[in-house]
Amino acid sequence: MDGDPAEGPRDALGSAPLSFVRVAVVGAGTMGNGIAHVFAVGGARVSLIDSSGAAIEGALATIGRNLERQVGKGVLTADEREAALGRIETATDLEAAGSAELVVEAVPEVESLKREIFANLDGIAPLDAILASNTSSISITKIGAATSRPEQVVGMHFMNPVPVMKLVEVIRGLATADETVRFTSDLARALGKVPVEVRDFPGFVSNRVLAPMINEAIYALMEGVADAESIDEVMRLGMNHPLGPLALADLIGLDTCLHIIEVLHRELGDDRYRPCPLLRQYVAAGWLGRKSGRGFHSYGRDA
Ligand code: NAD
Repeated sequence: MDGDPAEGPRDALGSAPLSFVRVAVVGAGTMGNGIAHVFAVGGARVSLIDSSGAAIEGALATIGRNLERQVGKGVLTADEREAALGRIETATDLEAAGSAELVVEAVPEVESLKREIFANLDGIAPLDAILASNTSSISITKIGAATSRPEQVVGMHFMNPVPVMKLVEVIRGLATADETVRFTSDLARALGKVPVEVRDFPGFVSNRVLAPMINEAIYALMEGVADAESIDEVMRLGMNHPLGPLALADLIGLDTCLHIIEVLHRELGDDRYRPCPLLRQYVAAGWLGRKSGRGFHSYGRDA
């Protein structure tokens, strides 16, 4: 990389309002639309990029609905909603990340795909841009190694639903620079989130703990310990979880859950992480949870 990563636009960002930040969000699915939403509300100019035009249309509809909900709750004014929408541009080509100071990648949880996207972004984004991944479990060190700037590659792991959840797990790969971690944490704070820095281990903290619980709940369902409603009710009422693990899996997306558990199983090499066969079956059937209308529970079209 040419130049000092501490110089250039990022220098000003620690204290600068988000209006000076240009962000590209790659992947406009469950997470990408939420990430674009919070950056646009925060004042950043956002390029929302997805290889699927249909996904972009769906994302814009979801963002519009969620902004409207915030207006209804008095969180935003109607003018702020319009201004946020006006800050979002869309594209189907990665070249739209060409002027971004920060790229946040939110494509499916598949290592080869993420490495390919980061290698391409490395040739497209400005030399001093930070390249962040919203990965749930994949090694930031491996993703960074697909680029010529691993010191500027970081995990910026938002939680679902992004406009609501406060946590951003900030993941430091082996080569990630202190300045990159600081920049990412500052940005998270500027969005009203709370960054928590963690080291680069499979599943980080969030999914090292959460994904095995979800997997175990699916085993309990498969083994007939109880039906889906009862499993969720036990965890809601007994453990004070706002959502039961099967409802949460449906919210995350069952394909995403399977990818995460496969990473834990493969990378930690312990059979206690083996994905439940029933989860594999649901994914094979296309029952992916809320996004497909059916998972462990059923959902109407607006769920
Ligand atoms: P998703 O399946 O809802 O969306 C992924 C999007 O990426 C789709 O719109 C797809 O069209 C697009 N895409 C696929 N290939 C692409 C390419 N080559 N270029 C551009 N766009 C492409 O997935 P998601 O749930 O939003 O997950 C995205 C990432 O966020 C994953 O790494 C996942 O592990 C992580 N994550 C998910 C959750 C969750 O609750 N769903 C929470 C935290 C993190």
